[in-house]
Amino acid sequence: MLSKELELLVALQDLDIMIKDIEDVKEIGFDVAGREKLIKAREDLAQKLAKPIVFNYEKLRKRYMRSIVPVKDDTCLGCFMRIPTQLITRGRTDREVISCEGCGRILYWYE
Ligand SMILES: [Zn+2]
Repeated sequence: MLSKELELLVALQDLDIMIKDIEDVKEIGFDVAGREKLIKAREDLAQKLAKPIVFNYEKLRKRYMRSIVPVKDDTCLGCFMRIPTQLITRGRTDREVISCEGCGRILYWYE
């Protein structure tokens, strides 16, 4: 189970990827409906999150296409660095929003 915050963050990232897809398609000359709706949904979603979390996410988004990545076998799937045990405890057991020490991406455990 993801914490509410991470659930919202993952949804925010999904929306951003959808919006980007629409913009890419638009660039090659196709007009896709629904962009405004997605942007509105994105804004509503961002408002539900704490400001520092959104700020950190926006910063990461400039650097990475996917700035929120899952952890598998105690490894960050963004940079493939092993996550230290104390961070695993905080992220998985205490369900805190934590960042990878290797790449800075926000981590989540989905099992
Ligand atoms: Zn990483």
